[in-house]
Amino acid sequence: MSALVVTIDGPAGAGKSTVAKRLARRLDYRLLDTGAIYRAVALTAIRAGVALDDEARLAAIAAALDIDFRFEGDVNHVFVAGEDVTAAIRTPEASQGASKVSAWPAVRAALLELQRRLGGSGGVVVEGRDTGTVVFPDAQAKVFLTASDEERARRRMEELRAGGKGADLEDVLREIRERDARDAGRDVAPMRAADDAVIVDSSTMSLDEVVVALETVVRERAR
Ligand code: C5P
Repeated sequence: MSALVVTIDGPAGAGKSTVAKRLARRLDYRLLDTGAIYRAVALTAIRAGVALDDEARLAAIAAALDIDFRFEGDVNHVFVAGEDVTAAIRTPEASQGASKVSAWPAVRAALLELQRRLGGSGGVVVEGRDTGTVVFPDAQAKVFLTASDEERARRRMEELRAGGKGADLEDVLREIRERDARDAGRDVAPMRAADDAVIVDSSTMSLDEVVVALETVVRERAR
C-alpha cells in the first residue's frame, strides 16, 4: 500500500494511543505521538523551574527539544536528550502541564516543523489534537476518534488500576473535562475534527472494532 499520512485526533482517553499503535503495526507504518512532544516540553520546563505561562522560555525549550522515539517490545519509548522519559511524561502533572504549554502560539509554532519533519515522508500514523487540521492538512486519511466523557474517564481509571494506582472517578472525570475544555477552547489550533475527517465514536466499540474501522478508512483512501 502507498505510504500515506494517517492522522488520528481526538480528546484525552478516547483510545488514540492504543488504536494508533495497533493500526501502525497492521499497516506496517511508523507512529508519531505528538502529545508526547508537548509532554516532553512540559516536563523539561517543570524540571527547569520554568513557569508554564512563560511563553518565550517555553518556546525556546520547544525549539531546542532533542526528542527521539524508539519501539522496545510493545512500548513506544520517548527519549529527551538521551534520557528515557516514557514514564515521567505520563504523570497527571505532565498531562496538565502539556495542555498548558500547548496553548501558547509560540510553542506550537516551534513544534510544527519538528512534527512535519518527523512525519513528512509518509507511511506514518500521527496522533494528537490538530494533526489533521494544522500539522498535516493534506493527510490522505483523517480520523477524529472520540467517546463520551464518562466512558473516557472509566477507561482512564482502568488504566490507572492496571498500573497499580488508585484514583477517584470524579477526579479523573474532572481532569479530563478540564483538559478537553482547554484543548478545544484555545485560540490557536484548537482540538476539532478536520472537515474531511471521518468521525468515530468509540463509546460502545471494542478496541478491535475501532482498529478494523480505521483500517478500512485507510485502505479506502489508499485506493
Ligand atoms: O495526547 P496526549 O494526552 O498525550 O496530549 C497531551 C496534551 O498535549 C493534550 O492535552 C494537548 O493539550 C496537547 N496536544 C496538543 N496538540 C497535539 C497533541 C497534544 O495540543 N497535536
